[in-house]
Amino acid sequence: MIDFPRRHRVPYDGKFRLGDFDTDPPGDSGPEAKLESELKESVDRLDALQRRLFADERHALLAVFQAMDAAGKDSTIRKVFSGVNPAGFRVHAFGRPSELELRHDFLHRVVARLPERGKIGIFNRSHYEEVLVVRVHPEALAAQNLPGAGGPEFWDGRFESIREFERHLARNGTVIVKFWLNVSRKVQKKRLLERIEDPEKNWKFRLGDLDDRARWDGFQSAYEAMLRATSRPEAPWYAIPADDKDYMRAAVARILVETLEGIDPSYPRVGAAQREELEQGRKRLLAE
Ligand code: AMP
Ligand code: MG
Repeated sequence: MIDFPRRHRVPYDGKFRLGDFDTDPPGDSGPEAKLESELKESVDRLDALQRRLFADERHALLAVFQAMDAAGKDSTIRKVFSGVNPAGFRVHAFGRPSELELRHDFLHRVVARLPERGKIGIFNRSHYEEVLVVRVHPEALAAQNLPGAGGPEFWDGRFESIREFERHLARNGTVIVKFWLNVSRKVQKKRLLERIEDPEKNWKFRLGDLDDRARWDGFQSAYEAMLRATSRPEAPWYAIPADDKDYMRAAVARILVETLEGIDPSYPRVGAAQREELEQGRKRLLAE
């Protein structure tokens, strides 16, 4: 099996170059059927690992998903977590900030959605929009009404805030894993056209998505700067080729499995007092 984490992890040395990471799956990824069975195996393991995470209650897992429109964030999240107990995870999709949210610092709304220990939190978009869409659309930054906004130092400051925030979370038991679903401009066009042609996908189409598409190069350089500045050991980014959905899902699922295995959550040990309770319970039930 491919070593997905090693292959896709964005280096921590700040030297990431977009051109080094493909939108196509690697040549040795194997046929669709193999990827599907790998996904299935990971989905089952995620369920088992989530139960242990929940029982262990020492760590939370935060999984962040960022991508251009139609890269497959929603469907990847749906497929990868399809086998996990719904009580054990929560997905939050971050859209345009409200008036009230705009009046707070940019991490405020994110903090409110963080997973508690024992849970998995999934961010469909995240605080990273603050160095992506907000960087590419000057009007989005203007709406924040910030002192000293814009300019290289401003964005470096945002990266620093994000790194410190994530380090803080890591120190407090939250394991962070971040996925950039790397779709090509060509495949995005195909998927956006599908949204127009397929009546069941019409609801997903927004004309505004084409404005973001028109700023493709701006987004790509914003992604590059973001990945360089914020892939760190306590909160790594993974750049996942997104032109093939089977590969993308298998890769994301496998990286999540390995991340959770790294935590190695365990069921709490049964102490003497609880053993005594279990014994009493057995006696009472058997005596009925
Ligand atoms: P979607 O995820 O396709 O439903 O779209 C949500 C939209 O909200 C996207 O166009 C995002 O770029 C936008 N969005 C998310 N977070 C922010 C933010 N902090 N500031 C401005 N726009 C945002
Ligand atoms: Mg959209």
